[in-house]
Amino acid sequence: MEHGGATCNIRAREAVIIATGGSTGNVNFRRMFDPRLTEEYCGLAGMPWSDQDASGEIAAMAIGASLWGFYNQVGEVGFNITKPGAIGCQYGYQNLRWMPGSAVFDRARATGLRVGDWQDVITVNMLGRRFYDETAPGFTTNNYNSINPYEPGSYLNAKNVTFSPNNWLNAAMAGIGDGHNGGGPIWAIFDADAVRRENWVTAPPWVDREAGFFFSADSIAGLAREIVMKYQRVPMPPENLEQTVARYNSFVDSGADADFGKPRPAHKIVTPPFHAAWATPVPHDTRAGLRINAHCQVIDMNGQVIPGLYCGGESAGGFSQHGLARAACQGYIAGHHAVRG
Ligand SMILES: Cc1cc2nc3c(=O)[nH]c(=O)nc-3n(C[C@H](O)[C@H](O)[C@H](O)COP(=O)(O)OP(=O)(O)OC[C@H]3O[C@@H](n4cnc5c(N)ncnc54)[C@H](O)[C@@H]3O)c2cc1C
Repeated sequence: MEHGGATCNIRAREAVIIATGGSTGNVNFRRMFDPRLTEEYCGLAGMPWSDQDASGEIAAMAIGASLWGFYNQVGEVGFNITKPGAIGCQYGYQNLRWMPGSAVFDRARATGLRVGDWQDVITVNMLGRRFYDETAPGFTTNNYNSINPYEPGSYLNAKNVTFSPNNWLNAAMAGIGDGHNGGGPIWAIFDADAVRRENWVTAPPWVDREAGFFFSADSIAGLAREIVMKYQRVPMPPENLEQTVARYNSFVDSGADADFGKPRPAHKIVTPPFHAAWATPVPHDTRAGLRINAHCQVIDMNGQVIPGLYCGGESAGGFSQHGLARAACQGYIAGHHAVRG
């Protein structure tokens, strides 16, 4: 098995349990589920500590293992992919911040700016155009209490469903209409007044200028010209960003966002220096993975158990639950069955 640039040979008398942490860090693997998730979604939660590189899944697939639970990976619910909680750095997952002193800070490079209020920024795509209400959240974690009254087990509940999508993520991944998959970089644009309101410091270790995740300039057009980095595959037209900011400022004057319905746009972007901070969606959970049965035995493409092969946690598919509880329970079940049969 390949992992972290090394080959790992595993010899076992009774069983092998795959618990390699999932696949959302492997671009080719994750694109089987969602073709939009191209290279620019490089801020995977847990990285640069944990790569979630699909190495366990790929090793099992090489001996015929089946995958499972694809819908769990792309359903618009939960933490499969999240809106960033911190901007201006590569790793902006909302519930994790890399601080100086961390063992991997040299690879994380910056802590990021925690966004307290999305009224303080506008988010634009590679072309410098807004695409959604910035205050909208990511996908809903679950649907608890969303249908009221709720009849357990009844299809009639469907008539009480209100369609209310949280589509900032889909809009961010929609792309710029140039035939490429992937939405490209998303930039949070703001001014010196926003920096003051949020108490941000636009210097290291908070922002990552060196690797191209944060830019500043004294004019909006100059800011657009500054944005040059690995994933910005087309230059941002300066006139686009100027028009976007001018139009947004007019919405602050009129009190209504005529384009995306942001609730009462609050702050104009007028005071230099102006900033562009990386605000691209962040992949998180793996919920599609190796097909397992109730003993956590891996199943092949014929629906048969692969003797001696087990899997649990993020690398296992078909059990759509976030986090450690799933991993711990499946590890326990797999270990028990591997020993006792
Ligand atoms: C930022 C963040 C915050 C989270 N917060 C919470 C939370 O608050 N509550 C919660 O319940 N869950 C949380 N989770 C999720 C939880 O951490 C994971 O679901 C859980 O750790 C998954 O366990 P696992 O054993 O499947 O994989 P991991 O814990 O990722 O373990 C996989 C291990 O396998 C190693 N490995 C990978 N490939 C190979 C290979 N080829 N050879 C040898 N070793 C390999 C990895 O280095 C790693 O040590 C969080 C996850 C992240 C990333």
